[in-house]
Amino acid sequence: MGNIAHRKSAIVIGSGFAGLSSAICLAAEGYDVTVIEKNSQTGGRARMLEAAGFRFDMGPSWYWMPEVIAQFFNRFGRSLDDYFHLQRLDPSYQVIFSQDQVVPIPADYEALKKLFESIEPGSGARLDAFLQEAGYKYEHGMQHFVRKPGQSITEFVDRKIFRSLFRMDMLTSFHKHVRKYFSHPRLLQILEFPVLFLGAEPAKIPALYSMMNYADMRLGTWYPLGGMHRLVAGMTTLALEMGVDILLDTEVFKLNVQDKKVKHVHTTRGCFSADVVIAAADYHHVDQHLLPPQYSSYSAHYWETRKMAPSCLLYYVGVNKKLPRLQHHNLFFESNFGKHAAAIYSTQSWPEDPLFYVCCPSKTDRTVAPPGMENLFFLIPTAPGLADNVTVRNHYFDMLMKRTAAFCGEDFTENIVFRQSYAHSNFVADYHAFKGNAYGLANTLGQTAVLKPSIRSKRVKNLFFAGQLTVPGPGVPPAIISGQIVADYIIKHHKRQVYESVI
Ligand SMILES: Cc1cc2nc3c(=O)[nH]c(=O)nc-3n(C[C@H](O)[C@H](O)[C@H](O)COP(=O)(O)OP(=O)(O)OC[C@H]3O[C@@H](n4cnc5c(N)ncnc54)[C@H](O)[C@@H]3O)c2cc1C
Repeated sequence: MGNIAHRKSAIVIGSGFAGLSSAICLAAEGYDVTVIEKNSQTGGRARMLEAAGFRFDMGPSWYWMPEVIAQFFNRFGRSLDDYFHLQRLDPSYQVIFSQDQVVPIPADYEALKKLFESIEPGSGARLDAFLQEAGYKYEHGMQHFVRKPGQSITEFVDRKIFRSLFRMDMLTSFHKHVRKYFSHPRLLQILEFPVLFLGAEPAKIPALYSMMNYADMRLGTWYPLGGMHRLVAGMTTLALEMGVDILLDTEVFKLNVQDKKVKHVHTTRGCFSADVVIAAADYHHVDQHLLPPQYSSYSAHYWETRKMAPSCLLYYVGVNKKLPRLQHHNLFFESNFGKHAAAIYSTQSWPEDPLFYVCCPSKTDRTVAPPGMENLFFLIPTAPGLADNVTVRNHYFDMLMKRTAAFCGEDFTENIVFRQSYAHSNFVADYHAFKGNAYGLANTLGQTAVLKPSIRSKRVKNLFFAGQLTVPGPGVPPAIISGQIVADYIIKHHKRQVYESVI
């Protein structure tokens, strides 16, 4: 196994996608790897909730960029099919603008162009041009930017990268960019929805992120049968196959540093040591709470001034009847997008009349709900750092049920057989999430690449960071890439035989 003479050891804190990914990469190179996870399941924000015969994915539900995930498994001589079956959704999702203005987004590109054309004449051809540009950003972004460790600006000093920088649209706003091609409010809303989760209003997000429209409209929306948790289970199985030890229900509460190295990782189940430590738990928590203060890479002020991506208010709901008007993914956009975005990003308050998202995986998958029932996941994106309480949760629950019932044309509140909410205080309690964030740091220009918290500790030689708060950013594929970046960085320096001087 591997090609290193002396078997090195690694401890990975956290078993989310980033932690599992880094653990698998290091184990494949012959490292002796132990993953330490505070919760009783692997997967972090993508854990599963099993109750009353339902299986709810607790976090991610959109499976985008399937090639990134497939390549991850291929790297270890595996195929996705060894672990789960992936299905493309059609329609990819539906957007509900009002009771009778419902737009299903077809998976087929020609059908999508026709749909655009029917809403705004001429927009079908302009969609070609828009997505061609977005495709360029996606391909070049994936090739030249996304997999960089972000340790130095010199990583980007290359003629090809430099040339592509101009076409990457880093300095134009996404808001302006979309309006160069389209003007109908419904098309603008469809195209702007993916950036709602990136951490700023479309006017403040670089046009670079039209690459997400390419991921959405060209690469498609997929679903692993059994639920998103199948991906977690697949990666966990792969980790075990590689010989990784996974300790669940074990919380790290202190990192002991001697001679500028982590000597001991103190956990609720004893003390561990290894050559390298990868912190794949929330970066802020490790930097500010697990390390002695003199070894933090960043100050409390630094963290306070970071712009966080949104948090969210969630409900997992089981209904003992079928709701035919819902699709697998449903975006309820019948209220004002601008006002909701302002509540998240400007006033940082609870939104008055929010947009929301409903996932109904039981449309595609009979295994996630008892026969004849629906598995519903409701999500309202909110500002991070809000105080949530029972009154707030009940208020929005009633609002969401009313709006969904109005759309479905039937009051199903009497048919609810399971209900559980999840919000900021749960993110803090379960993941030590800074300000209860759900999606990490905002993807603004000032928090991109070398400007993100570093994958390497600035003060502790053998401590590294992975996860959605460092490069490349939030989302399932980026978190997997983040684990690969940090593992490859460690392996590369080790292979060059400069291990001791660098780490
Ligand atoms: C509600 C929601 C919906 C989302 N929807 C999507 C989507 O549809 N598509 C998409 O691509 N992305 C989505 N995302 C984003 C995506 O899920 C995350 O970016 C990704 O899962 C983050 O992975 P991670 O490994 O960085 O962090 P995490 O998953 O948070 O993993 C960190 C792990 O560290 C553990 N930990 C923390 N502190 C300690 C400690 N002291 N000791 C031991 N362990 C510790 C935690 O328990 C956790 O398991 C969503 C996120 C949320 C919250």
